[in-house]
Amino acid sequence: MSTKQLFDYDLFTIGAGSGGVRASRMSSQMGARVAIAEESRVGGTCVIRGCVPKKLLIYGGHFADDFEDAAGYGWNVGKPTFEWSALIAAKDKEITRLNGIYRRILNENNVDLVEGTARLVDKHTVQVGTRTVTAKNILIATGGWPSMPDVPGIEHAISSNEALDLKELPRRMVIVGAGYIAVEFAGIFSSLGVEVTLVLRADAVLRGFDEDIRVTLGAEMVKRGIILKTESVVRSIEQVGGHYSLRLAGGETIETDLVMYATGRKPKTSGIGLEEAGVELNDKGAIVVDAYSCSKVDNIWAVGDVTDRINLTPVAIAEGAALAETLFNKNPTKVDHTNIPSAVFSSPPIGTVGLTEDAARAQAGDIDVYVSRFRPMKHTLSGRDEQTFMKLIVDAKTDRVLGCHMMGMDAPEIAQGLGIALKCGATKAHFDATIGIHPTAAEEFVTLREKRPSHEGR
Ligand code: NDP
Repeated sequence: MSTKQLFDYDLFTIGAGSGGVRASRMSSQMGARVAIAEESRVGGTCVIRGCVPKKLLIYGGHFADDFEDAAGYGWNVGKPTFEWSALIAAKDKEITRLNGIYRRILNENNVDLVEGTARLVDKHTVQVGTRTVTAKNILIATGGWPSMPDVPGIEHAISSNEALDLKELPRRMVIVGAGYIAVEFAGIFSSLGVEVTLVLRADAVLRGFDEDIRVTLGAEMVKRGIILKTESVVRSIEQVGGHYSLRLAGGETIETDLVMYATGRKPKTSGIGLEEAGVELNDKGAIVVDAYSCSKVDNIWAVGDVTDRINLTPVAIAEGAALAETLFNKNPTKVDHTNIPSAVFSSPPIGTVGLTEDAARAQAGDIDVYVSRFRPMKHTLSGRDEQTFMKLIVDAKTDRVLGCHMMGMDAPEIAQGLGIALKCGATKAHFDATIGIHPTAAEEFVTLREKRPSHEGR
């Protein structure tokens, strides 16, 4: 008996975010019969409540810098005024447009959209509301959701989800955490005039990033007026009239008008019948998958944040595309999770690819480090006290470039090209043989000649 008679679909995807939509659309283009379930708006975290709205707000906040910087170039822009509600309305309009595009993509590619919360009944059967459907393959692409620690008063705190839709800007705000989301939102809100305090338990922001980048970004955040409460833990949050009082472990209290937690995200795996169907979850609740994104159940697959591999949109998209190849194009495909470039849209932003200095030393042993720290050309006239920092890490034995890190204007745009170089296995000699583009910041990456003496630096 053919698959067509056995099951309603060849692929049923749960979760219409970046990974789920890519896998579904490509599978359908390859001739599979595909449906996708979504309980919220089509587009997922990135489009609806993550990367896209966040970046629009970053552009919005950046104008504050631009107006200030303009004076050094002869402009007199008067006293600019800003209306948060206008920015949010414009952002919402764009998200609605993108949501429509995602729905159209599914429709034009003959992927059936089933709106509602899906739950596995068994390894081939899914229930969405009153509808039961069967599928040969099931893809879990439910993503992640903000996770907050169990602190007394945590119900008063918002997550990045709500921060993107505030009715009005607070005067003061505390952000707990120091990862991607915390530093990005600290940049957005402080540029819009909010007094931001970051409460972090580590001694520097962005654990896991190169130490120089962590320290340099922290210093720039402080210059921008963001208060960094390092090595601090919130013990309780209390509502006092119209504001909040946070008590820290040492007894200190902070009064604020808004509390946001950005303390990581958890894979969305509960309540969808995964364990009952035999799917294995790890201790963080993420679906355990092999290199082909197959779970412990041979017809149940998972891509994106729900697998907690590298939680970035383009990675989820690559995993979704690889899965379609594997399942419906007779082309088993793995995603290479090494040397993935990424960016943090902090103020100033970060772009990075490859190993940190510590990781490179641990892996390669003997490494050479090249650094450059300078005031970007734009700020020679604007007068802004902001640095750009760049760093190359090279394997001393093979000359291979192991890591490129940058904090400063345009760093995310520059990191993408460096990602290609590292994918190609570029050596320092290749970087040196490349002619720079002048005058740019990026040219520094091909003109770094002085190794940092091992006793210098951090
Ligand atoms: P991260 O994992 O990046 O950071 C979590 C932060 O919260 C860390 O500073 C961590 O501290 C802190 N933390 C965790 N638990 C507690 C706790 N109980 N009390 C106090 N602090 C705590 O998570 P985010 O929420 O910032 O982002 C989630 C993911 O989303 C990122 O990892 C990234 O993959 C993705 N993302 C990517 C973006 C991009 O590409 N630009 C932008 C936004 C998100 P510590 O370091 O001490 O553990």
